[in-house]
Amino acid sequence: MTIVPLETSTEPPAVTSSATGRPVVPPRAAPAPAGPPVLTTRDFHLHYGPVHALKGVTIEILERSVTAVIGPSGCGKSTLLRSFNRMNDLIPGVRTEGEIQFGSVDLRDRGTDVVELRRRVGMVFQRPNPFPKTIFENVAFGLRMLGLKNRGELEARVERSLRRAALWEEAKDRLDRSALQLSGGQQQRLCIARCLAIEPEVILMDEPASALDPTATARIEELILDLKSAYTIVIVTHNMQQAARISDRTAFMLDGRLVEVDDTTALFTNPRQKLTEEYITGRFG
Ligand code: ADP
Repeated sequence: MTIVPLETSTEPPAVTSSATGRPVVPPRAAPAPAGPPVLTTRDFHLHYGPVHALKGVTIEILERSVTAVIGPSGCGKSTLLRSFNRMNDLIPGVRTEGEIQFGSVDLRDRGTDVVELRRRVGMVFQRPNPFPKTIFENVAFGLRMLGLKNRGELEARVERSLRRAALWEEAKDRLDRSALQLSGGQQQRLCIARCLAIEPEVILMDEPASALDPTATARIEELILDLKSAYTIVIVTHNMQQAARISDRTAFMLDGRLVEVDDTTALFTNPRQKLTEEYITGRFG
C-alpha cells in the first residue's frame, strides 16, 4: 500500500491500496464539531509492577464525539481506557504518574468517589456480560443500586434505556425472560442499555463488537453513531475500518505511547507521523 499524492488537489493525499488503487478507508462526511475536553491526560504513566504500560500519554477526549483508540495488541489501548474510570485500581501493583482528569475531578486522587465516577463514566466490555437475571432486572440493576424503588419510575427508565440502545422492539415482550436467552448482539445492546440507565456522561467501549457477527457489529456501530449526540464515547478497536466508520477522532498508540491523535479523516488520509502511516498501510501490527 502506498500514499498517493493528489498533485492537482488541495485535499490531503488519500491512503490507497496498491492492489486495488481504491482508498483503504473511504473519506467520511464533515467531522462533527468538537466539544470541550471531558477527559484529559498529561504525561500520564501507568505501571503494572515492572511493566511500564503507559509512557507519558497526553490526550484530550472531546465532549459528544467518538474517539477511537487503535494500535497493535499490547500497546496500552485497554489500559488507557480503563484508566478513565479507574478500573485499573482493581489490579494489584498498579502505579501511576502524571495527570489524568475527568472534568475537574483528579482521577489520581485517592479521595475520588470511584462508585460515582463509574456511574458517570460507564464501560462496555468486549464480551457481552449480562447478569444471569431477567432483561428487565439487568437494566434496572444500577437504578436499584442508586436507591430507585418506585416501580413505575423503574419501568419508565428501563424502557427509555432499552429504546436508546435500540433493543426495545426486540425485548419489550420478554422483559421477564433471562437475558442469557438473547443473541450475542442483543446481549451487547442490553449491556449498553444497562450502562445508559444510570445516565453516564462518558461511555468507554473495549472492542465492543469484536465477538459479534457482521450484522450485529453493524447494529452496534449504528448505535454508537446515534449515541454520540448525547454522550462522549471512547472506543478501543483493533479494526481500522471500524475506527474510520464510526469515530470523529482517532488516537494511534504504539508501545505505551500515543503516537498521534487527530481528526479521523486526517489521520487516515494524511497522517503526520511516519509510524502512523506505516501502521495504517499495514506495514506492521
Ligand atoms: P492493548 O489493549 O493495546 O492490547 P493492554 O493495555 O491490554 O494493551 O496492555 C498493555 C501492556 O500492559 C501489555 O504489555 C500487557 O501485557 C500489560 N498488561 C495489561 N494488563 C496487565 C495486568 N493486569 N498485569 C500485568 N500487565 C498487564
